[in-house]
Amino acid sequence: MTFLRKAFQYCLFTAAASVGSVSFSQYNGAVEPPEHLAPGYHAMTEEQSREWLGILAGPVFEGRGTGQLGYVRAAHWVAGKVAEFGLEPKGEAGTYFQFLPVTRQTIDATQSEIVGAADLKIPGTDFGLDRFINQAEIAGKLSFVKLVGNAPKVEDNLRDRIVICVTDEQNAGRATFMLARQRPAAVLRVVETAPSSAPQLRRPRSNPTGTTGTITKQAATKIAEASGLSADWLNVKADDSTSLNATEADLTLKLRIRDEPVAVPNVLAWIPGSDPELRHEYVVIGAHLDHLGNQGGIVYPGADDNGSGSTAILNIAKAMSQNPVKPKRSVLFTWFAAEEVGLVGSAYYCDNPLLPFEDMVCMLNIDMVGRNEEKPQEPASENEDSLHLVGSKKGDLALHDAIEKANKHVNLAFEFDEEGVFGRSDQANYYRKGISVAFLFGGFHPDYHQPGDKPEKINYKKLVSAARLFYLTAHFAADHGRFVMPKDEKQAEKTE
Ligand SMILES: [Zn+2]
Repeated sequence: MTFLRKAFQYCLFTAAASVGSVSFSQYNGAVEPPEHLAPGYHAMTEEQSREWLGILAGPVFEGRGTGQLGYVRAAHWVAGKVAEFGLEPKGEAGTYFQFLPVTRQTIDATQSEIVGAADLKIPGTDFGLDRFINQAEIAGKLSFVKLVGNAPKVEDNLRDRIVICVTDEQNAGRATFMLARQRPAAVLRVVETAPSSAPQLRRPRSNPTGTTGTITKQAATKIAEASGLSADWLNVKADDSTSLNATEADLTLKLRIRDEPVAVPNVLAWIPGSDPELRHEYVVIGAHLDHLGNQGGIVYPGADDNGSGSTAILNIAKAMSQNPVKPKRSVLFTWFAAEEVGLVGSAYYCDNPLLPFEDMVCMLNIDMVGRNEEKPQEPASENEDSLHLVGSKKGDLALHDAIEKANKHVNLAFEFDEEGVFGRSDQANYYRKGISVAFLFGGFHPDYHQPGDKPEKINYKKLVSAARLFYLTAHFAADHGRFVMPKDEKQAEKTE
């Protein structure tokens, strides 16, 4: 199907070429952009995209992880670029940033302890938590659990109990997960090595429900003896089976949790519309800037996800600022934070908008437009010029039509079969607010969420084409005005 379409468009291209578009380097079949938008269109280049994405997905920003210095550096770098292009800051207090209320919580081991009856005291250096609820005291009745063998089952109810568990090697990795399903107050797995607590990001819409961690054998032995259990029970022997020992002893984790703010900003920049009557209305163009960052020393550069989208909309920002003709309505560019941890940056913006939603024309989102989709039955070579256009038929179809109109000047091969990913990027939060949206997505490939998602594997022509498509679409949309959701139409009908 794609092949036939391309052959047909090649005929169109040769016809167009014969009327003299010599330096036009878009996909075959594309026609020159409208003259008044041409300077901006041609200001978006592969060369500049390669340079910018090389920085965004390069060593300095270390994969732009939420809560990591690399993300903060990337956000500042983007702010620096848009300032250089002359875009206005639209974040908080005259800056380009909207800071999410994220904190890093760490447990101060020197001021934490576990206490029980008869002066039982375990110092904070003898246990560590990798996940914890935001509570200085976690108390409950004490249970001991031993998990051994294949598919061990604990029949008793552990709800609200403090559980100390010992396991054989086979169950060490999954024990806390298995026990957490019974909703204990806390699970501490006995380990031979010195435990330490992992810092934890506390962010909007996240609410850990359990506390899990590890405890030294020595400390567990002390607790066992204090509650009347023989220390030998904690040893796993060859003929052991899964067992449980519920005690009546009370145990309390006293935690000194330190809470420090972490910089996790959305980046917002604005190009004012040319029409003074209409410029309070605006088109939103978005891309998430964050990726998976540095995880245990392994950097996930996220060149495609979503260095590509971040670079694409940076191209659009520069193009619009340089094009002599501005859109009638304004354009708000948003580089979202914390998308990879659950669309957090866009959710926070939608809950705390800095501009009225009723003035929003539409939202155009770009996430992963730098690679050729690759599936077992679909080699990458078949997807040189294809992108998925997602969600554009869920709202006002006039927006979809505007994208099709823009695509005459780009000629990407659209695919419309990936609606299943609609909820997996930032436009979903705007759609929920009643905004017509469109999401440009390149599809998955073997480097998705892998350390191999590197700049040298990017298809820069496709990236620039995505930018050109939404540059034109944003102009058309900004001249059109608000796209009305079909739901709104029905409501309007009812009230008429
Ligand atoms: Zn992404």
